Amino acid sequence: MTVYKDELRHQGLRAQLVKQLREKGITDEKVLEAIQTIPRHYFFDNAFEKIAYEDRAFPIAAGQTISQPYTVAYQTQLLQVKRNEKVLEIGTGSGYQTAILAALGARVCTIERQKELFDTIQKSYPFQRQYPGIRFFYGDGFLGLPTFAPFDKILITAAAPYTPPILLEQLKPGGVMVLPRDEGDSQRMIRITKQADGTLREECFDQFSFVPMLAGKNSGGNKIV
Ligand code: SAH
Repeated sequence: MTVYKDELRHQGLRAQLVKQLREKGITDEKVLEAIQTIPRHYFFDNAFEKIAYEDRAFPIAAGQTISQPYTVAYQTQLLQVKRNEKVLEIGTGSGYQTAILAALGARVCTIERQKELFDTIQKSYPFQRQYPGIRFFYGDGFLGLPTFAPFDKILITAAAPYTPPILLEQLKPGGVMVLPRDEGDSQRMIRITKQADGTLREECFDQFSFVPMLAGKNSGGNKIV
């Protein structure tokens, strides 16, 4: 069970986490401030609240994981989010990364392919009142969200086997997409910038390990619809 209460000791644990992220090389003050702002323990059962502030990934429902804080900070830093930008996130998972983007002032659309995760988050998301600009979708991230496109920024939080072409189309000129790309055990973090004339510039960063980005929606059993 999770009781949503943010106490001084939680804030202290977050300050320690922020210190660790700084030591690991995160420099963007706005990103660190967002990590200090969002109670990550709201995404954990109360019994695990200490673990919430360790810099590690953790299992959530449907065989998925909440990304490691360092990974969230790293991806968010590369995305260079500005206030009021329209951001598409692929892989809502726990919704923690979603809240970090919202704390930076983004209007976030986020897609999840696991019905179980989507239903839970739809029902009770602890930040919906604080950040009414967040919209949740159940669907296949490979297809993006044509009705809400184009986006200033796109963030993929699962291992993409290749750069989804439809998502590139849904990126504004001048827009940025960050994705962990490659099949297998680890992925390289890639940042793609769509120049004003539509050409693409690609930069490579460190290696990470993500759960796979899978095509289609999962309705709860093993059925793909
Ligand atoms: N941002 C999340 C990361 C969760 S792990 C967090 O910090 O909690 C990645 C998530 O991507 C999983 O929930 C997985 O179900 C989802 N996913 C994988 N392939 C997808 C796809 N094609 N479309 C949407 N979501 C997808």
